[in-house]
Amino acid sequence: MAQTLGGAIEDLRVVMHGPVCVSGDAGYDEARNIWNGDIDRHPAVVARCTSAADVSAAVVFACEQGLEISVRGGGHGFSGFAVGDGGLMIDLSGLNAVRVDPAARRAFVGGGAKLADLDAATQEHGLAAPAGVISHTGVGGLTLGGGMGWLTNMLGLSIDNVESAEMVLADGSVVRASAQEHPDLFWAIRGGGGNFGVVTEFEFRLAPVGPMVHIGMLFWELERGREGLRAARDVISGLPDDIGSLIAVALNAPPAPLVPEQYHFAPGHALMLAGFGTPEEHAAAMSAAAAACPPLFQFATPIPYANLQSMLDDSAPWGVRGYEKALYLDELTDDAIGVLADRAGDKISPVSFAPIFRLAGAYCRVADDATAYGGRRSPQYVVNIAGIAADPDAFAADRAWVRSVWGQLRPLAHDSGGYVNFMSEPDEDRVQYSYGSKYERLARIKSAYDPGNIFHRNANVKPS
Ligand code: FAD
Repeated sequence: MAQTLGGAIEDLRVVMHGPVCVSGDAGYDEARNIWNGDIDRHPAVVARCTSAADVSAAVVFACEQGLEISVRGGGHGFSGFAVGDGGLMIDLSGLNAVRVDPAARRAFVGGGAKLADLDAATQEHGLAAPAGVISHTGVGGLTLGGGMGWLTNMLGLSIDNVESAEMVLADGSVVRASAQEHPDLFWAIRGGGGNFGVVTEFEFRLAPVGPMVHIGMLFWELERGREGLRAARDVISGLPDDIGSLIAVALNAPPAPLVPEQYHFAPGHALMLAGFGTPEEHAAAMSAAAAACPPLFQFATPIPYANLQSMLDDSAPWGVRGYEKALYLDELTDDAIGVLADRAGDKISPVSFAPIFRLAGAYCRVADDATAYGGRRSPQYVVNIAGIAADPDAFAADRAWVRSVWGQLRPLAHDSGGYVNFMSEPDEDRVQYSYGSKYERLARIKSAYDPGNIFHRNANVKPS
């Protein structure tokens, strides 16, 4: 394809400031490599954009040349939609600047920034915007689908803190979406993913966080899985909003300095509690969990917020193979815990696991229809089952484990929808279930902004 494009690529090189790469050029492989090592695709052209004008030129060029567009933010989408064979990849990794206005408590974040970029810039001022729990994830994809992490119950999803976004639309025009400008588009991009255009800059509202916060972990061995998971559930369902939690089902204890050496890689389940309030409040939550079911081991320590955000980075390293399926559960019932505890020992890879986020507090103080995010704004759990392995055989086995555990949990959920950011295979049915009654409105907005569905490499909303 690159040969047939010939001189046209030279034209794009003239109008773009950032480099335009084809196979063999410096930067081509760096751009097409994404987090999920199971995906190895070769775009015809990679437009390494450095500005909204570059993105606009790339969109127009792709349409003129009939090239399928893919958009790469942080490259962490499990489905690998960021890279396609034979098309044009809009690589935003160079658009990663973060500017903070501490007085106004705002951050202006490039569409290709990573969470680490956001946290580093905002923490200089003791501020933060809620994001995910692994710092090499992209702000772009994470935010457009929702964005959940340690601060969800204190500050809401990432989208709940977006004030506006600069976007390049399907016709190449550059607009700002906010409550005042293109309010329908602004609604759609808060949860509706990359369907509506390319976000070149997010404007986030910031809140004071840290710089020191608290992290604690309790770990129960597989044999006491049910008791440990029930204790974890009972504690997190009553936590104050300023304690974030994560249950890690089927976790192999990390070989981290705070984990006693004899338990490194031990299989079991963990409850992690991140405290943003007083040390006493965090200690009380840790004690309550330990009293409910004494753990095999536990630790708690103060930690800089930026380190909390990168603490789990090694659990999902770049280039590993990944597959995931998730669902929302209103309650973490004993039946659900039974499935998770019974199946935890069946995975092969030590890094496969099932993280569970509790969604409550500030998450629920946003009206259901305020954003396009598909999940209901009532207290609930997101159960994500992730098969992660470097070895292809272990990966294949754990992908089957993910599908099978998901199938067992499915009758306990409302429908087969889920959080679009935790979906390796977002087929049409699942995307529709995930957005529920919002799907029709999203499809109408899609018709207005991208009638030709040129932005379709995503959890795709079809134009109505
Ligand atoms: P990419 O693969 O670059 O992008 C995914 C899709 O998003 C693209 O195909 C494109 O359609 C769209 N996109 C990305 N950037 C833009 C943009 N600027 N404009 C328009 N469209 C864009 N999610 C959470 O909520 N919380 C977590 O804690 C969390 N942790 C994760 C940890 C790991 C290791 C991984 C792999 C994923 C995690 N996720 C988490 C899921 C994550 O939110 C999604 O995978 C998300 O799509 C990643 O965004 P990205 O920009 O890095 O990925």
